[in-house]
Amino acid sequence: MQAEHLPPLAQIVEAVFKEIEAGPLNVSSVPLELLSKLNFLFDKDLSKAFQIIERGRITCYTAERSQRKVFQVQGSRPADQYTVFPAHFCTCHAFLYQVVGQDHILCKHQLAARLADILHCCNTVCVPDEVFAQLLIAT
Ligand SMILES: [Zn+2]
Repeated sequence: MQAEHLPPLAQIVEAVFKEIEAGPLNVSSVPLELLSKLNFLFDKDLSKAFQIIERGRITCYTAERSQRKVFQVQGSRPADQYTVFPAHFCTCHAFLYQVVGQDHILCKHQLAARLADILHCCNTVCVPDEVFAQLLIAT
């Protein structure tokens, strides 16, 4: 994503994610300064995102040929399964009402998937591109 095309607050968020990416890439070694920045930007959603990560509820599906990625985030109830493109979209209600309808930058699932991707702490499954397409159609 080209940061210069984003709204100012989203540019700040991208800058913080880039700072985290430049670090040691370990969930326990994210500097307190960066956690403080994330906490300022996401408030309660940050702790919810880390709970999602800690509970192992994120799976990243990568298409073998195209290397496209999509994340599946398991909600608190078994029936709640969300398809997430961390920078753009989530199938949850909060995304629709708070991100699209209000001024939130990301929902907690997007934040969790983005952090899990950066910090390499999610389940990863490589699938043929045809299977990847079926995952998207099923959404
Ligand atoms: Zn969501």
